[in-house]
Amino acid sequence: MPSGRRSSKRPWAQDHPELDVDRVRGGRRTESAADGEWVVQSVTGAAGKAYTCPGCRQQIGPGTAHVVAWATDDLLGPEAGVAGRRHWHSSCWSHRDRRR
Ligand SMILES: [Zn+2]
Repeated sequence: MPSGRRSSKRPWAQDHPELDVDRVRGGRRTESAADGEWVVQSVTGAAGKAYTCPGCRQQIGPGTAHVVAWATDDLLGPEAGVAGRRHWHSSCWSHRDRRR
């Protein structure tokens, strides 16, 4: 029996979990803040959902461009940080540090 074949190695089938936000076009950046390292993803809001901004407690209406931010240095690991991601008004996020 020929044994030269590698067992089902399929690099294209790597498990690569994607967030919904990963499919959104737009900038993603990382920011260092007093409270840790954050990934900040710009989203268009085209998904049609409304969110509550933790900065001002106002609603981010469907179709409103905003940012999604999550911590990359969560104590429970990066997955926990992603799971705890929050939707912010872009301006609320950028003013976040000044609220302290
Ligand atoms: Zn806000």
